[in-house]
Amino acid sequence: MRTLEDLDVEGKRVLVRVDFNVPLDQHGDITDDARIRGALPTLRELRERGAARLVLLAHLGRPKDREPEFSLKPAAQRLGELLGVEVALAPDLDHVPEAEVVMVENVRYEPGETKNDAALAERYAALGDVYVNDAFGAAHRAHASTEAVAHLLPAAAGRLLEREVSTLTGILEDPQRPLVAVVGGAKVTDKIGVLDAFLERADSVLIGGAMCFPFFAAQGHDVGDSKCEAEGVEPAQRALDGGGEKLRLPTDLVAGREFSADTEVRELDGVDVPAGWMGLDIGEGSAEAYANVVREAGTVFWNGPMGAFELEPFAAGTRRVAEAIAAAPGTTVVGGGDSAAALAQFGLADAVDHLSTGGGASLELVEGKPLPGVEVLS
Ligand code: ADP
Ligand code: MG
Repeated sequence: MRTLEDLDVEGKRVLVRVDFNVPLDQHGDITDDARIRGALPTLRELRERGAARLVLLAHLGRPKDREPEFSLKPAAQRLGELLGVEVALAPDLDHVPEAEVVMVENVRYEPGETKNDAALAERYAALGDVYVNDAFGAAHRAHASTEAVAHLLPAAAGRLLEREVSTLTGILEDPQRPLVAVVGGAKVTDKIGVLDAFLERADSVLIGGAMCFPFFAAQGHDVGDSKCEAEGVEPAQRALDGGGEKLRLPTDLVAGREFSADTEVRELDGVDVPAGWMGLDIGEGSAEAYANVVREAGTVFWNGPMGAFELEPFAAGTRRVAEAIAAAPGTTVVGGGDSAAALAQFGLADAVDHLSTGGGASLELVEGKPLPGVEVLS
């Protein structure tokens, strides 16, 4: 992969694809600017190395039209504060002001963006002399601003993209052992590729979250009203058959009557969930056992919360495991939007070695899938 080392930027107009797809509240205020801060090393380096100007491309959400709630205005403003320069916002590709740092409006306002349209890519390319992709979170998409445009200009990875790719591929290719994967979250069908990748390479794979229930169903346990995807049972059975000793499931659970913070709560000694109850967290015994495995790890990869951590009565399992990961002496890598949100909720976001800014992209990379936005830089 070509990096900033391989690119001459002095006096050049640098077209930079960044991932500023940040969460906004109902007032349009940014609730987490980690992705904007993540791009700062690249943007600062380009300026220090004498780039004539920076033209930034980014997307926000999935607009159908030029809907104003998907404007990058809040992101441009926040970047200006962090970078200490005025960041101009170009309303579209035909009206790009001659400023030192310019952000072009949401690339997904352009119908050709998600189609990887070559004519749109030509219009992007006209705005720069060289192209840098630092948008790791969008690298799993072959879109005009991540893929097609990279064929048209001298192109390289930014520092964030470079670090994401080297860290995530590094833990698979040459990890400090034992390599422990903690995999949870909502659906086993979302995570089966990641599970397979780690069942092949890791020393332990610890399962939590709602994705336990297809495993328990496959083993013949009662799952009560737990969130249990029917399509997940077959892949769970396959993982059980192939996983052997390294695959671990919870041995106790915390259940509620419904998905709510005020619901009646009950600790279950085993993993059979009675009718009228749903398993919403791993139990204390399981969390403690997982924490012990994490403590001994040379490398930990975590994706997916252990329970419905957004609801305080069901946050303890995720908190215990997150604290163990934060305190672990080994290398700790976390991927996934909700896992990152859980770490932030517990005040532990800075306590892990690498917190990926890419949700889908980090999972696809760990699964061993080629990312179009990365491949094109090789
Ligand atoms: P990530 O974004 O980190 O990859 P996911 O999107 O796969 O994680 O899963 C996160 C969601 O899973 C959270 O909203 C959480 O409430 C939900 N979840 C986890 N465990 C349970 C459970 N036992 N029952 C219902 N929902 C759960
Ligand atoms: Mg999620």
